[in-house]
Amino acid sequence: MKVTEHIKNAKGKTLFSFEIIPPQKGSNIQELYNNIDPLMEFKPPFIDVTTSREQHVYIEKDGLLDRKITRMRPGTVGICASLKYKYNVDTVPHVLCGGFSKEETEYLLVDCHYLGIENVMALRGDAMSHQKYFEPSKGGHLYANELVKQIQNLNKGKYLHDVIEADDKADFCIGVAGYPEKHLEAPSLQTDLKRLKHKVDCGADYVVTQMFFDNKKYFEFVKAAKQAGIHVPIIPGIKPISIKKHLQLLPQVFKIDLPEELINAVENCKDNKAVRQVGVEWCVQQSKELQDAGVPVLHYYSMGKSDNIKAIAEALF
Ligand code: FAD
Repeated sequence: MKVTEHIKNAKGKTLFSFEIIPPQKGSNIQELYNNIDPLMEFKPPFIDVTTSREQHVYIEKDGLLDRKITRMRPGTVGICASLKYKYNVDTVPHVLCGGFSKEETEYLLVDCHYLGIENVMALRGDAMSHQKYFEPSKGGHLYANELVKQIQNLNKGKYLHDVIEADDKADFCIGVAGYPEKHLEAPSLQTDLKRLKHKVDCGADYVVTQMFFDNKKYFEFVKAAKQAGIHVPIIPGIKPISIKKHLQLLPQVFKIDLPEELINAVENCKDNKAVRQVGVEWCVQQSKELQDAGVPVLHYYSMGKSDNIKAIAEALF
């Protein structure tokens, strides 16, 4: 079922969902299942599976370092299919512009369609670590709105190059990313909102936000988005802090602010076990306020071990 249909069927009740990251290639998938198993009792209607960009790896050969490009966490569509059929849950593969040509994206979407996957998140992806700015692959998309258009074309039975007359159309529900504290490259929040509106006008059905730790940022974003003419569901994406290093890492990577009260609480922790507890308590408090405000879904970024997400879900669902 589509994410938007799940939201409609919930009739105002807040749903629980989460995002997982494929394991590094060479790792056993059982560990992923072990982390998902405890979360299934909270009946997530859908689970997101991220896609990692390719990266450089260095291989020593005859005393010299040889640079290769590889994707360390492949398997997004395979994992989506395995979770869908193992748990009877809808899955949402993240589809990236970065690292893919339009042709490769079309093949991936055809695979998803045949596997009965009905939702996709359309994302640009970040620049690779050696690049200052995002660069599309040869024959790939520059912005997520172009990817949204390609997916919508498939929904109309329009394939690349018009080489076939389709008698079977895809029917993907499309999610896109939104940034309550603006995307790091955007010159202003207002400009970023205009671009989000453009993604929705191109055919996005719902928005999932970047993580935030102050609900005020989300509420103001939703209000500004409505004023900008965005009327699709805006799902809050939230993450419990789990290590002290997050205080530097999250603002550095995502250009987001952390509230003073949270920073102080984390700084006063004697070890990361205590930080994990602070992260859970903060996230429960954030989630309760969002739930009371009637958000459609609480979507959790679960990086690996799921005990903290389970503790949060137990307090809410
Ligand atoms: P876009 O919507 O294309 O926006 C990128 C930037 O370009 C923004 O600053 C925007 O304002 C600007 N822009 C957009 N359109 C135009 C235009 N027409 N002209 C000029 N400027 C424009 N990354 C991954 O690698 N894998 C994942 O699985 C993944 N999942 C994510 C899930 C969520 C919920 C979120 C919030 C992010 C996720 N990301 C993921 C990160 C995302 O790929 C990065 O934040 C990326 O830098 C931007 O992606 P986007 O889809 O928002 O891009």
